[in-house]
Amino acid sequence: MPLHIETEASRCLNCKVPMCQKNCPISTPIPHIIQMFKENKIQEAGKELFENNPLSVVCATVCNHEAQCAGHCILGRKSTPVQFYNIEHFISDSYLSRFKAQGIVKKNKKVAVIGSGPSGLTVSIILAQNGYDVTIFERKNNIGGMLRYGIPEFRLPQSVLERYHKLLDKLGVQIRLNTTIGGALRIDNLFRDGYSSVFVGSGAWRPRTLNIEGESLPNVNFGISYLENSLHHVIGSTVAIIGMGNVAMDVARTVFRHGAEHVMLFSRDGNATASSQEMSYAKLDGAEFIYGKQIVRITTEGPVFKKSILNENGESVGVEGEEELVKADNVIIAISQVPKDKLILSTDHLEGNAKGLLIVDDKYMTTHEGVFAAGDAVTGPLTVVHAVNAAKIAAASMMEYMEKH
Ligand SMILES: Cc1cc2nc3c(=O)[nH]c(=O)nc-3n(C[C@H](O)[C@H](O)[C@H](O)COP(=O)(O)OP(=O)(O)OC[C@H]3O[C@@H](n4cnc5c(N)ncnc54)[C@H](O)[C@@H]3O)c2cc1C
Ligand code: SF4
Repeated sequence: MPLHIETEASRCLNCKVPMCQKNCPISTPIPHIIQMFKENKIQEAGKELFENNPLSVVCATVCNHEAQCAGHCILGRKSTPVQFYNIEHFISDSYLSRFKAQGIVKKNKKVAVIGSGPSGLTVSIILAQNGYDVTIFERKNNIGGMLRYGIPEFRLPQSVLERYHKLLDKLGVQIRLNTTIGGALRIDNLFRDGYSSVFVGSGAWRPRTLNIEGESLPNVNFGISYLENSLHHVIGSTVAIIGMGNVAMDVARTVFRHGAEHVMLFSRDGNATASSQEMSYAKLDGAEFIYGKQIVRITTEGPVFKKSILNENGESVGVEGEEELVKADNVIIAISQVPKDKLILSTDHLEGNAKGLLIVDDKYMTTHEGVFAAGDAVTGPLTVVHAVNAAKIAAASMMEYMEKH
């Protein structure tokens, strides 16, 4: 922990209009939590944090605090902002394993949750606490979604997911792993089998492709596919990463930890989309950032680029000059993800937009009666806290729906 959290809490001014809280996507009651912490009411504070955000301990670790709470703390205008996330992490970490499932009144209604990422976990926890019998259907062999298979262990220890598994057990949530809905089982089968309502939190797992020659060569991989199972990919000493978003930064930092010595990240534009914090960590690890290069094809020797023509905003508007081969042992394409289309293709009346994102109304109900959705499957790749916030609204709408049906 970089700062002593008691000293940190004592610096908070308990602002009447807390800018930290206003800029938190899930409106964490920051000054109130800090007051409780100062009064040594750690478990009460933990309960309040958990009820507002069941993934508080995760968000305290992986949120972009510089763009949210810390970045807007009033003290940051003249000196160092309060680093609330360290206090939040301490409180929520202490609370998580002491969580008790108490006073639950059973509703005798079954709910199916597709996916166990942040949105699916949030809906499952809220509905189980409210007496619904929840079953999670998860395509992978463990829970967590991108928390387990995307975000690297050195940024988010996976032990936290084992603790969430235990919490789900305490709540009586059933988990069917290695079960893809839209494969052998479909959403219609869930209604047939008596589920009153279905939540889709299936995320965005299909890598975006470049649509250029060479993408299927053996020295090429997609960022999310690499991160999913980095131990089992053979990485050479020189790696070229196409893309400069946050996922590309995680790929760069991961390949260094698997023996790469020279790691280059390429952007076709004059700037990057990753947060400055993620970029600075990748830079400290030794990554090299190369701007204004448009990839035109990939060979077994490495990627081939042309120079981008940039407009005044630094956006690439064309290419010029000769082709240039950059020698690399591996090429990893990390230019974002889109949702897979299995659920839409296998379910009548479940509609997506042109980008394959599920269409929902303001209550997060999809175009299919009784089927709700939130998270990356609806927004495209975003963040944990945004997925949790939307899932909270979806869970409330599902309860309202099930009261009436
Ligand atoms: C490499 C990487 C790093 C990231 N770093 C951060 C970060 O530092 N901070 C941050 O806030 N956000 C980060 N994000 C984004 C964040 O992880 C996602 O926004 C968030 O996980 C989305 O949650 P979700 O529940 O919508 O989907 P996901 O986490 O994608 O979970 C979806 C789940 O559904 C399952 N599933 C999919 N289809 C089916 C099906 N048909 N049947 C059954 N199960 C299915 C999947 O296996 C998965 O477990 C990162 C993302 C990546 C890829
Ligand atoms: S803005 Fe900073 S000082 Fe004010 S309540 Fe939030 S954390 Fe405390």
